[in-house]
Amino acid sequence: MAKDYYDILGVSRSASEDEIKRAFRKKAHELHPDKAHGDEAKFKEANEAYQVLSNKEKKGQYDQFGQTFDQARRQGGAGPGGFGGFGDFSQGGGFQQGNVDFGDLGDIFGDIFGFGSGRSKRSRAKSGRDIQADLNLSFREAVFGIEKEINLYKQAVCEHCYGLGNEPGAKNETCPTCKGKGQVRQVVNSFFGQIAQTTVCPTCEGQGTISAQKCRVCSGTGRTRKDQTIKVSVPAGIDDGETLRLSGQGEAGEKSGHAGDLYLRIRVQSDSRFVRKGADIFSEVNISFPAAALGTKVEIETLDGSVSMKIQAGTQSGKIFRLNDKGVPFLRKRGRGDHLITVNVITPTRIHGKKKKLLEELAELDGENIEE
Ligand SMILES: [Zn+2]
Ligand SMILES: [Zn+2]
Repeated sequence: MAKDYYDILGVSRSASEDEIKRAFRKKAHELHPDKAHGDEAKFKEANEAYQVLSNKEKKGQYDQFGQTFDQARRQGGAGPGGFGGFGDFSQGGGFQQGNVDFGDLGDIFGDIFGFGSGRSKRSRAKSGRDIQADLNLSFREAVFGIEKEINLYKQAVCEHCYGLGNEPGAKNETCPTCKGKGQVRQVVNSFFGQIAQTTVCPTCEGQGTISAQKCRVCSGTGRTRKDQTIKVSVPAGIDDGETLRLSGQGEAGEKSGHAGDLYLRIRVQSDSRFVRKGADIFSEVNISFPAAALGTKVEIETLDGSVSMKIQAGTQSGKIFRLNDKGVPFLRKRGRGDHLITVNVITPTRIHGKKKKLLEELAELDGENIEE
């Protein structure tokens, strides 16, 4: 059974984005390995839980399937439900819509009542930028899929403070804004008259304390620029010009803000033997004129190796043979395209001696007029 990330962070399944973030920060402070009563294993577990629950897409997958598609793929290839339906794949972007952004709801209420708390929070924990890069694949890699590693120089989560921005082990001070309460009261004049509302303290984000010292590695931003190796699972059937989206693999956000996404534009090398159109493969085979007339067997190179194909007697040049299911695997569904082979009948160009005589006899039998 998969781990219960909500249990690990100690929040309910209906916890908001902010609640999850606050719960993680609290756990991170308690469990940080540099603290006296820290626990590295538990800290990492909390971090893992936060990485999933703070990412809208991954959280959705986790809520629905008990694990994310990334995890499912690491365990055995197919995504939840048994297909290769990867949540982080898209063609040219665009089909990632459909997740409800409750964060915006907060903004809407904020706008109505004039608090604007959601917005100010967002600007402090700045989201990481998306990254675009090219991914070069060989013809076969695109056809059958592959695990690739790519190196990127990018903003990554600071390993010293785990993205929190505070110097680990440094003492905390009582928050000057809320005097340690973690909440502040605001009175706002609104359409309905005066409204007093208690909101989460914007300075300490409900902790009641703030760190006395910023992380000395990242100066409190929670991220550092460095080389990172990223594992990419390229699905079978991807084609030149398509885009692979890796959720959360862009630049790290500031102070554990959302990471951006990584968009990989796929470049596929051509192959001297095959031409690909969608899921179908095209190739040609040359046979001699006598072989075409009398029938023959030829070896055809396919994506799966060579196969023997029967050419019937009397085959004309240009005839197309179809090998079913020998083409490219369909992207995100079962089955494969076909392999279509065009037969070229080669007319001999230099004929001497016995060959010439035989052809002349043949022509005579057919009553042809031969020009010398
Ligand atoms: Zn740091
Ligand atoms: Zn405070």
